[in-house]
Amino acid sequence: MSANPCLSCGACCASFRVDFDCSELESQGGRVPDGLAVELTGRLVRMRGTDHAQPRCAAFSGQVGVKASCGIHEWRPSPCREFGERAPMGIGDDACARARARHGLAPI
Ligand code: SF4
Ligand code: SF4
Repeated sequence: MSANPCLSCGACCASFRVDFDCSELESQGGRVPDGLAVELTGRLVRMRGTDHAQPRCAAFSGQVGVKASCGIHEWRPSPCREFGERAPMGIGDDACARARARHGLAPI
């Protein structure tokens, strides 16, 4: 069993919209690849795929509840970082529990 439950989960990367300032894009001097984001209004951009009816971040790889990784872990945007340094997001908080519930997974 993995020591890090995120590596066999990934539910948060397939549950929530991930919005951030366009200054985090590579083209603006940041580190998030532009092709993985879509423009919103003003300065706001969103990780591609996170606002679909069945959200799934374009940077996510694997299968929720089985095997999960962030293809841009080193360069992921601030909302993902703010969940904590534990990959990919934050373990065990309310948002984590909601994301897991959405995918039929028990809270941790
Ligand atoms: S933070 Fe929670 S929902 Fe996100 S991958 Fe880790 S265990 Fe899953
Ligand atoms: S950028 Fe990475 S950590 Fe953030 S939602 Fe997408 S796959 Fe998950």
